[in-house]
Amino acid sequence: MGKTYSLETDLMPIMRGDVALPNPEPINRDIGAEILHYNQMRSGCSVLLPGETSKKWNVSFFLDSGQSGQLYGSGLVAWTKWDNEKRTYAATGLRFAICQHTKVDDPGANHSRGWHPGRCSKCGLDMTIDSGD
Ligand SMILES: [Zn+2]
Repeated sequence: MGKTYSLETDLMPIMRGDVALPNPEPINRDIGAEILHYNQMRSGCSVLLPGETSKKWNVSFFLDSGQSGQLYGSGLVAWTKWDNEKRTYAATGLRFAICQHTKVDDPGANHSRGWHPGRCSKCGLDMTIDSGD
């Protein structure tokens, strides 16, 4: 069994803003296009940005997950802010990751047949993808 991330113990403290957002990174693509890829969204959350002392309220989290729904402990947090130039609210946000995963292949990987077993070399998360038929 590899490492797994749990919503309750790993992600909820981040989504309540009880711990600062881990490893935040800017989103360089259109945020609307980014979030369309997600099927796991939690709205009405809070976030504590690193270096800030008060939580930002009413943000939405989009959670990275694997083929069988297992959580990767990473994703994207988004909120709206007033855009003075466009005179409207616009979405903004950050990526985050409890672990910035580095996938290494397991023995037996057969990429030409769509079998990509592997895990993160840092935390041990199972990142296997089976795209074969
Ligand atoms: Zn990892």
